[in-house]
Formats: sequence, structure tokens, C-alpha cells
Amino acid sequence: MAPGPLCQNEPVTNDNPVIVAGGGIGGLSLALTCHQIGLPVVVLEAVSELRPLGVGINLQPNAVRELQALGLDDELTKIGVATKGWSLYSRHGGLIWNEPRGIEAGYRWPQYSVHRGELQMMLYRAAVDRLGREAIRTSSRVLSYANAHSDSGVGRRGSGIAVEVEDQAGGRSTLQGSVLIGADGIHSAVRAQMHPDEGEPLWSGHLMWRATTEAPPFLDGATMVLCGHDSTKLVAYPISKPDPETGNVTINWLAEQRFDLSAGYNKEDYSRQANVEDFIHIYDGWRFTWLEDLAALVNGAERIYEYPMVDRDPLPFWTDGAVTLMGDAAHVMYPVGSNGASQAVVDARELGRAFLEYGVGGEALEAYEAKMRPATSEMVLRNRNAGPDYIMQIVEDRCGGEFDDISEVMSHEELTDYAAGYKKTAGFAIAELNARPDLIPAGSRVALPHEAEQQETSSR
Ligand SMILES: Cc1cc2nc3c(=O)[nH]c(=O)nc-3n(C[C@H](O)[C@H](O)[C@H](O)COP(=O)(O)OP(=O)(O)OC[C@H]3O[C@@H](n4cnc5c(N)ncnc54)[C@H](O)[C@@H]3O)c2cc1C
Repeated sequence: MAPGPLCQNEPVTNDNPVIVAGGGIGGLSLALTCHQIGLPVVVLEAVSELRPLGVGINLQPNAVRELQALGLDDELTKIGVATKGWSLYSRHGGLIWNEPRGIEAGYRWPQYSVHRGELQMMLYRAAVDRLGREAIRTSSRVLSYANAHSDSGVGRRGSGIAVEVEDQAGGRSTLQGSVLIGADGIHSAVRAQMHPDEGEPLWSGHLMWRATTEAPPFLDGATMVLCGHDSTKLVAYPISKPDPETGNVTINWLAEQRFDLSAGYNKEDYSRQANVEDFIHIYDGWRFTWLEDLAALVNGAERIYEYPMVDRDPLPFWTDGAVTLMGDAAHVMYPVGSNGASQAVVDARELGRAFLEYGVGGEALEAYEAKMRPATSEMVLRNRNAGPDYIMQIVEDRCGGEFDDISEVMSHEELTDYAAGYKKTAGFAIAELNARPDLIPAGSRVALPHEAEQQETSSR
């Protein structure tokens, strides 16, 4: 983006905080990051009460590293399962690929499989604890923003923002801040104002049925399994440790089927419920060598949610004056690389790093965008065409998923190149991540105006 005229950053104060639209995984990670580096922050969350909604997600080592840097290691260990492996099977039960994950793979940080709602509640508790309840405002739906500088806009810098907020009763108010970060998810109001002609998310043709079931563990109890091919898939992984009495774990599972685009779909809604009969027939004739009883797994779910696989096209810009986007608001992607939540956490940390380097204003937002937009745009497109599990479709095409040994179908080199390529794009290539210095060195703080004055006086 071509830089425009430089406006002054207005001082960040309690009356002029960083404003975050959305108290999801990304928004709460950003609030904790701002607190860590000494910035006043207010999160505006639309719902009246945060509840542990959703099913399982994965936190890749690059995100776990950042959550540990926020001091959340113990809490994460309690709610997550340190994932040890990632295995791909054909619909005939043949093992296509098996790789270690997290610490087992050589990362300095684990990968965690967690319940999305528990992760959000963990971040929420930490944010309320550290920032106070007043900083995380529920029943506060962001409707629109106005840059304070009339010459602000795309390519302009500076800070100062007025955010229009609506409460549950429909009452409206305006909140002043230094910058606004749109972390308001797939239906972001901030993104919609910035890109008014964009329209609805784009459907891939796939429907997903997601749920959790208390069931006996499979394989080593810490492996994520993907089975099938691009048109029909089953994904399963544990998101809890074994119950000491029953030995059962909570298994997160996802059934996926591709339809003709003309079939149409129900608009994306994380709470839309579905029935086993809607999809169970898609597995007729399949063999699950890694799972004892598919029927028990799917029938054991208390609730099954139907969700269409949707994303949005990469954007030409994320930053408009003192406003930028992060997480799903910036780059919602197909959930094929287990990377959406991780990327939201990393965005939060990259924003914190930019505030440290440039101060709180448009310059920091542009620096953040310049780093994150190209890589995440590539990920959105890559997930569309060939996520890391696309190997399964190649195997299906070559042999209908039937083989005695995978080396008859694909060379080891082909398989490893494929897996390594995705990790590099997604920012969790092992050697690079292990060697990279911390995004936010411990103890770093943004000097606020009164602190800078004090420092100057004391050094005279
Ligand atoms: C209820 C819910 C359930 C989900 N379940 C799953 C799941 O099971 N599996 C999965 O892979 N992904 C799920 N997701 C999406 C997943 O959390 C994200 O893909 C990922 O974690 C990126 O996080 P994010 O913070 O960018 O977005 P999100 O986690 O979606 O958070 C966005 C937040 O913004 C709030 N919000 C929206 N509009 C406004 C507004 N105008 N003003 C203020 N606040 C606003 C939302 O209530 C939400 O809390 C779910 C999201 C939600 C909101």
C-alpha cells in the first residue's frame, strides 16, 4: 500500500485506548498482548455472555509459543491434548501418511487440540483477571467507525477513531479510541464497512457435520486422523485426557461431503444442528482400520452441528487510517490446515510487535498488514486448492484408495514435499520457528506519553 501523509499518533490513554471489535480467540489474545506491553485496551463483544461454544480446533506450535509467552502455559496444558501425530488414511483403511506433531516432531512448543469454547473461556478469564471486567465489554456490538482525521483513509496514517456501538436493547453510543482492530470474525462489521461491495462468504460446495463424543481413545490417544479424500472425509482427534473412571476421552469429529455448487446451502451459523441420518450413508462400504466403531462415535454425540465450508477472497488492503483487521475478519480460510485459530493468535502478537516498534497508530497497522496480509492471503488460496490433506485426493485419483503399501502409489519424497510446503506457508516450519527470536521479547513495553515524560525528567 502506498504510504500517505503522516498524521500524528494521538496518545494512547485510558480515555483513548486500543479498541478491539470482537472477543473471540483473536480479539482476546490481542487484549492480553496489549496488557502485556502496557497499552490500555477495550474489547467490544456483541454477545451478552461469552459461553464455551463450538467444537474442537487445533493450536499449532507457532500459536502455542505465543500463548506461552502470555503466561498461559499451565491453563493450556489443563484444557488441551498435546497432539503427537497426524495420520492420513484412505477410505479402504490404508495408511497414506503419518507424521509426528508438536514436541514429537522437534518443535520447541507443543501442538494442542482443544475445545474452541474452552480456549475462548480460558482467554476470557485471563483477560478479565488481568485487565478487569470493564475492559471486556459484552453486549457491545460494533456497528461502524469513523477515522478522527478527516484526511484519514486507505494509505493515510495516524490515530484517533470513533466507534459506534449498539447494546442488546438497541441503545447506541460512541466510544473514542486510538485505533480500532476488527477481530469480529467471519461476518465482520468492520470489514464490511471497509469493503462494502464484498457480499457474503463463498461456499466451496462442502458441508461439514461437527460434534464431540465421549468414547474410547483410538491409536495412541493423541493423534489426529483424516480419512477419505476431497469429496468425502472423516476427521477425528481427541480434545481431552482420559476420564480416570471410564477411560473415555472427548473425541472431536467432523464428517465432510462435497456437493454440486447448484445444491445451495444453509447460511453459515455455528449453532445450526443436524442429525446423523443427514450424512452417515456417505461412509457406506468404508473401512476404518484405526477406529473400532464409527456408528458408536457419531451416535454418541449429544449435538451435531452442520456448517458449510466457506471462506472469503483475499483482500487488497486491511488498513483504513486507524483501523485494521485480524483473524477471521481479515482472512477467513477453509479449516483444512487446522490453522484458523492459530493464525488469529499470531496476528494478535504481530500487532503487539508493531505497536512496540512504531507506536500505536496507522504506521504500526500498515507494518503489521505488510507482514501478515501476503502470507495469509496465500494460505486462503492454498487451502482452497490444495490444503495439506490434498494428498488423500491424489491417492484416490491414482488408485481409488486401494493399495497394500503407499510406496506403490506415491514416493516418500512426494509425500514429504507436500507436507513441508504447507507448514512453511503457514509459518510453522520446524527449523524456522525454533530459530526465530520472540515476536515480543519478555518485559517489552510501549512507552506511554506520561511514562516517556517521566523517563525524560528522571534522566535530566
Ligand atoms: C460461536 C462460535 C463458534 C465457533 N465454532 C468453531 C468450531 O467449532 N470450529 C472451528 O474451526 N471454528 C469455530 N469458530 C471460528 C473460530 O473461532 C475462528 O475461525 C478462529 O478461532 C479465528 O478467531 P477470530 O477471533 O478471528 O474469530 P471468532 O472466534 O469467530 O470471534 C469473533 C468474535 O467477534 C464477535 N463479533 C462478531 N461481530 C461483532 C461485532 N459487530 N461487534 C462486536 N463483536 C462481534 C463474535 O461474537 C465473536 O466472539 C467459531 C466461532 C464462533 C464465534
